[in-house]
Amino acid sequence: MSEAMIMLADTTVGDAEIAAVTEVLRSRWLSAGPVTRSFELEFAAALGVGDAVAVSSGTAALHLAMLSLDLRPGDQVIVPSLTFVAGAAVVALHGATPVFADVRSADDLTIDPADVARLLNPAVRAVVATHYAGRAADLTALRDLLAGTPVALVEDAAHAPVVAHPAGALGTVGDVGCFSFFATKNLTTGEGGMVVAADPGRLARIRRLRSHSLTRATWERSTDAVASYDVDDVGLNYRPTEIASAIGRVQLGRLPDERRRRAALAARYRAGLGDVPGLGLPGTAAQPDEAHHLFPVLLPDGADRDAFRAALWRNRVQTSVHYQPIHHMSLYRRRYRSTGRPLPVLDALAGRLVSLPLHALLSDADADHVVHAVRAALTA
Ligand SMILES: *Cc1c(COP(=O)(O)O)cnc(C)c1O
Repeated sequence: MSEAMIMLADTTVGDAEIAAVTEVLRSRWLSAGPVTRSFELEFAAALGVGDAVAVSSGTAALHLAMLSLDLRPGDQVIVPSLTFVAGAAVVALHGATPVFADVRSADDLTIDPADVARLLNPAVRAVVATHYAGRAADLTALRDLLAGTPVALVEDAAHAPVVAHPAGALGTVGDVGCFSFFATKNLTTGEGGMVVAADPGRLARIRRLRSHSLTRATWERSTDAVASYDVDDVGLNYRPTEIASAIGRVQLGRLPDERRRRAALAARYRAGLGDVPGLGLPGTAAQPDEAHHLFPVLLPDGADRDAFRAALWRNRVQTSVHYQPIHHMSLYRRRYRSTGRPLPVLDALAGRLVSLPLHALLSDADADHVVHAVRAALTA
């Protein structure tokens, strides 16, 4: 019987990634180059689109998405409050205003299109939809709502790499799609990300912005005797390394097996926890595909979340909270007091949210242990 902690997340990185990284190191070309280009084209192909731009993080992906919209002070971007803070920070960095939207229900923790409809006004430039936990936000409703308006739809697909949807893979349905390859994500490169965009002109601009809008990249210039470049836009260095891209290519190949394992574990949790009185298991509505990135549960009303998490920790189960709502954070409360408002659905459930361990290396015995630990903590 193992006494090891059952971790919230873990990575499937193994010998194949080590071999790929070794090959890059031996090649002596470490910054973005041909391996990164292959990763971009393979990731795009997996999504069913023609091209993608690899970047150094999911935050960089979101920042580039906002830069491509030319946000200005006074502009508003509607952002789910139940997402990682990066989604709001990249708006605030422009001096624009993140306006927070509610979740739809205790069963659907993605952005509520009805609340988005209430928030639309001429200052709104974009809506961010996070595919929370790896389940699709209601892209059909959001697209219908925004059709005929100049408001862009930005998909934060950090939880949902290569997930099928009737309208196209998640990330490819809106105007811009952003992915993260952080260490806890389903597909990881340590730190990394990817951007896709419906408009090839926008994607080309994002590619230039990733590299200070130099008209020619370092690796393109490396073959010229007399190389030069121009600069025609204010950009950043958000390039990934070849080391990260080599890991990403291998990880992309692991996704189908990884997905199947996560789905089996999620089903095991649902079977083991479905009858616990008062415990909510969001995400029962059928979806064609999902990434099973997180397994969030809603503790029974009135349960002490800190005590619950401490009890699981003592029982060697690590938990987390995805997320503490952004509109509760001091910066966002203080700075956006005039546009801030209560979000009744999220406000009522945020204190009950806990994420259970979910990753492809968990055994059935680990999952059963987690189920027992949850039941024990709630009946103590
Ligand atoms: C991880 C994450 C990000 C940020 O990605 P990084 O690679 O950590 O910068 C953004 N949004 C969501 C929903 C995430 O989970």
